[in-house]
Amino acid sequence: MSNLYDAVIIGSGFGGSIPALRLAQNGKKVLVLEQGFRNTEKDFKQSWDPKYLVTMNQIIPSDDYAVFYRSGMTLGGGSVVFSGLMNRAPSKVFSFVDYNGYKVWPDAVNRQTLDPYYAMVEQTMAVRQATWDEVPKTGGTFARMMDNMGLTCDRANYPYINCRQCGFCEAGCIYGVKQSLMHNYIPQAEAAGVEFRTGCIAMEILPGTSGYGVRYMDPHSGESTVQGTVVILAAGAIGSAAILLRSKQYLTQLSPQVGQNFSNNGDLIIGFQLPDGWPSVEYYKGRTNAGVMTYAFWDEYGITIHTGTGPPAIFSGLNIHRPGEYAWGAGFKQWSREIYLSKLIMCVVIGLVTGEGYVYLSNDSPLVHFSPATRSFTDYVDRVVAVGNSIASANSAVLLQTRTSGYEYTANHMLGTVRIGDDPAMSPADPYGQIRGYRGLFVSDSGSIPGGTGVNLSLTTAANAERIADYINTHW
Ligand SMILES: Cc1cc2nc3c(=O)[nH]c(=O)nc-3n(C[C@H](O)[C@H](O)[C@H](O)COP(=O)(O)OP(=O)(O)OC[C@H]3O[C@@H](n4cnc5c(N)ncnc54)[C@H](O)[C@@H]3O)c2cc1C
Ligand code: SF4
Repeated sequence: MSNLYDAVIIGSGFGGSIPALRLAQNGKKVLVLEQGFRNTEKDFKQSWDPKYLVTMNQIIPSDDYAVFYRSGMTLGGGSVVFSGLMNRAPSKVFSFVDYNGYKVWPDAVNRQTLDPYYAMVEQTMAVRQATWDEVPKTGGTFARMMDNMGLTCDRANYPYINCRQCGFCEAGCIYGVKQSLMHNYIPQAEAAGVEFRTGCIAMEILPGTSGYGVRYMDPHSGESTVQGTVVILAAGAIGSAAILLRSKQYLTQLSPQVGQNFSNNGDLIIGFQLPDGWPSVEYYKGRTNAGVMTYAFWDEYGITIHTGTGPPAIFSGLNIHRPGEYAWGAGFKQWSREIYLSKLIMCVVIGLVTGEGYVYLSNDSPLVHFSPATRSFTDYVDRVVAVGNSIASANSAVLLQTRTSGYEYTANHMLGTVRIGDDPAMSPADPYGQIRGYRGLFVSDSGSIPGGTGVNLSLTTAANAERIADYINTHW
């Protein structure tokens, strides 16, 4: 087997499989190294057993162990374990200026320039708006709460065909309904000649005479090296930063910004307890992502809200309680049993915040330092709570807390660690994902996304990967 490729891509999620297909369609010899294994419908289980979930997920902690960042670790990456909400980022996202006065998105990337790439992804992955028949009761109830305030809430977009509403989207869809990358980009890439090597963990990148070497651990042959004229980092926001940080001794001109500007996309989890007399929401039924999204608070507060469904284990994973009360004891048990069955609405709020965390290596493994208590994040949480309280009071509901004190931030939407940008001093990669100082070395995953997307991240990551692939195809 020759170890020389036109392109070596690290990671097979949205940022990796998309360029793999596009470069192969352009006649390039492409290898994808993926640390996870090939899992298909016959391997998935309808189970929330952590022993099963770790076979397809990577968990990386924050250094204070307050947050555990979760990402897909399987061929197809996050697309296999995500809950499928794929909306385009609103236009305002691309003009976001952080609290340091820096406009995070490069001028070349905005809603207009991304629209053709969004359309390519939506077409390839069969993304479409849910019908009202497909919206679980919890989503419909949240839409009613918005309606009671005179506000709008509409159905979100998903890559689902004939969904059976079983609720195990994040455990892998056993019915093959969820159109993960395993249903489209990956088989098409394989048909176009791309080689996917699974179980292979990329460690370091070394500059060579005509490209780069990628040193990796192979499950069969141990430590190996492959050469790519072009190398594309697509190991996720934490994984790509970790590989670059490990390679610093060889890539001596790397920007000190690598690993910085980490953001969780401003995700916060809030909940509501509905008043007596409303029809049961049956929170435990339906697809994981409950089908609706409101932009009603976008213009004024810079946030969107969507709803979810979930198993009873949500009470052990989160600290859901009424303000001023505790999430333990016999009274709490009784209360959670009552509200879980019929009166619980859980929401994910996403909004624009400055990326203030960073990824660093400890004994060669990545850790995340994230500081939610900084001024900008605290202000953001205050805005979310103001909106949450307004929704609660208009509906005679109670805004529930999701942490011992405060609100849980979800740990699935990591971004920003190898961000693209116009200013070389502020961004490790140029607007087309090329690592500054290293021709032919690119980043195309969520790490390249320079700021919050206002909605879930994957569609923008995917569209940006299409854009970067287009650039590589026209310049190499
Ligand atoms: C439970 C869950 C639910 C989610 N729900 C949604 C949702 O509804 N909508 C949405 O938009 N987003 C959602 N997300 C987030 C979404 O999955 C990510 O934003 C997206 O997958 C990021 O794409 P990526 O290409 O950057 O990385 P990934 O998709 O994570 O792909 C990175 C790949 O690189 C591999 N890798 C990492 N390190 C190495 C290495 N050293 N060597 C080789 N391979 C490596 C990983 O195994 C992985 O397969 C969810 C995520 C999770 C975990
Ligand atoms: S709810 Fe739908 S998409 Fe999710 S696992 Fe079940 S059938 Fe698949």
